[in-house]
Amino acid sequence: MTYGALEAGGTKMVCAIGNEHGEIFDQRSIPTQDPETTMPQILEYFQDKEIEALGIGCFGPIDLNRNSKTYGYITTTAKLAWRNYNICGYFRERLRVPVGFDTDVNGSMLGEAAWGCAQGLQDAVYITVGTGIGIGVLSGGQMLHGMQHSEGGHILIPRREDDPYAGKCPYHGACLEGLAAGPAIEARWGAKADKLSECPQVWELEAHYLAYAITNFIMIVSPQRVILGGGIMHQQQLMPLIRHKVAQMLGGYIKTKELEDMDSYLVLSSLHGNQGILGAVRLAMDAKRRSMGKEQEQ
Ligand code: ADP
Ligand code: ZN
Repeated sequence: MTYGALEAGGTKMVCAIGNEHGEIFDQRSIPTQDPETTMPQILEYFQDKEIEALGIGCFGPIDLNRNSKTYGYITTTAKLAWRNYNICGYFRERLRVPVGFDTDVNGSMLGEAAWGCAQGLQDAVYITVGTGIGIGVLSGGQMLHGMQHSEGGHILIPRREDDPYAGKCPYHGACLEGLAAGPAIEARWGAKADKLSECPQVWELEAHYLAYAITNFIMIVSPQRVILGGGIMHQQQLMPLIRHKVAQMLGGYIKTKELEDMDSYLVLSSLHGNQGILGAVRLAMDAKRRSMGKEQEQ
């Protein structure tokens, strides 16, 4: 079957066509401007592709509560043109196919669970460290949504004593994202993260904050594996530092066979940048399956 996949991001919209084997046949990137400009371009891409369903992994916050009047909307985003925007409804009306919807990072978690390094796992955490920090949690084989969706990038963690930087989050100052996302690194050290490879102190502090958060997620979710992605993780020196610090912070308290091998417990995303778009394919498949189930009930 042919499925449509949309990775809706703050800077670009990645549109793709894939199938149930996780194969991508075609892909196009469209810059994210305002909905009036961007949405017709995306629609045009999908219109003649004869897709069975569309999956959308979307920047947030978004409304995922199926009982809500605004289910399928982008809600209180800082991107004002997209605030309270019915992104799912737009496609459902015009393409007349089932539409699956989740956060971009939940999409990445789903992609890894379907075709990547979380295949066969019931419990895993995906963390993206880029312009923001996002967390997707697979728990008991299902994506964790709660009342809305996880906002694990905004957990509050103590600022380290030797770090004078106040934090960049407009809501919380020194939350995880405010301390450790790309813009915070740039503001603290005065250069973009990719220009700081040669500064060990940058990555030691970054690893500290990420390890702090990961340790907390391990304590709460008890994942079988933790996957890290996003632009900042391109810094190859970061992962070994994080593994070392997580092991230290856990303090030997949790004894599992997974934690004995940190190199396979804490891993980089395995789908070569396609985890988000593949997750959107998976969302489309799930939406199609749900719609067929509904038809059978009637
Ligand atoms: P986004 O989060 O905007 O979807 P990315 O995951 O690519 O996109 O993250 C962008 C952030 O990652 C920026 O802050 C950028 O400076 C940083 N970044 C991109 N490439 C690198 C790199 N090679 N090393 C360190 N930081 C990087
Ligand atoms: Zn915050």
